[in-house]
Amino acid sequence: VIKILSLGAGVQSTTVLLMSVLGELDRLDHAIFADTGWEPAAVYKHLEWLEEYTREHAPDIKLHRVSIGRTVKEDALEATRRGDGEGARFANMPLYTTNRETGEPGIVRRQCTREFKVDPIEKYIRGFVKPPRRKKGEDPEPLVEQWFGISLDEIQRMRMSDKWWKYFHYPLVEERMTRDDCLQWMMRRGFPEPPRSACIACPFKSNMEWRRLRDESPEEWEEACEFDEQIRVRGGMYSDLFVHRDRVPLREADLSTPEDHGQLNLWDNECAGMCGV
Ligand code: SF4
Repeated sequence: VIKILSLGAGVQSTTVLLMSVLGELDRLDHAIFADTGWEPAAVYKHLEWLEEYTREHAPDIKLHRVSIGRTVKEDALEATRRGDGEGARFANMPLYTTNRETGEPGIVRRQCTREFKVDPIEKYIRGFVKPPRRKKGEDPEPLVEQWFGISLDEIQRMRMSDKWWKYFHYPLVEERMTRDDCLQWMMRRGFPEPPRSACIACPFKSNMEWRRLRDESPEEWEEACEFDEQIRVRGGMYSDLFVHRDRVPLREADLSTPEDHGQLNLWDNECAGMCGV
């Protein structure tokens, strides 16, 4: 069976890859990073380091980067540029909405994870794995074991594969490792702390993550604020769109609220999640 990691280049999937490189987990055959084109510079820098380390210490693990040829940002701006009042409906990002007439809050259904990450990885795998058609009554062995860097504290994000020819494997859950355990594992071995992987203006950011962006990456913060302003100008006729969950302009959002304590992880709500890990 071919072992393939969905590499998000965040804390958990980085730990999985390095554990495989160091022999603490089975040897992976492939690690695939799906590029949304809008990760912070720190993530791309970390990914370069990770690829280099892997090539040096485990050259047999094949590394791939895949993309659909446009970015999450371009996609969202294109959708909201339509100006026909339907923009919000076509945006892929889970943007927050406020109905202009009724003030009713809503959220755009998230499709970006699937379109930018899940599907391109699946398509890439299908490039080198050709599952035969399954005959009625047959129960053949799966061909692919697809690994995800979901940690024990995110166990609710685990999914079952809906394809007979592959099954999903969650090594961190099996090893009973939380995100903190991953960070400690990395630290003990002298590895650099991976940044959080997520699109620069992903609406699922917590206030703590927005603060970090504002304080540590002022240029990317500015880009997120500008994007937030652009989608509002261009957004649907019926609703205003926002990247911050309070449905206020990002620049004006109160980022000091105590929501960070025990905050819900909004990445749970759809797709075999790979954003953020
Ligand atoms: S990080 Fe956020 S915006 Fe980017 S693909 Fe994932 S859910 Fe969508």
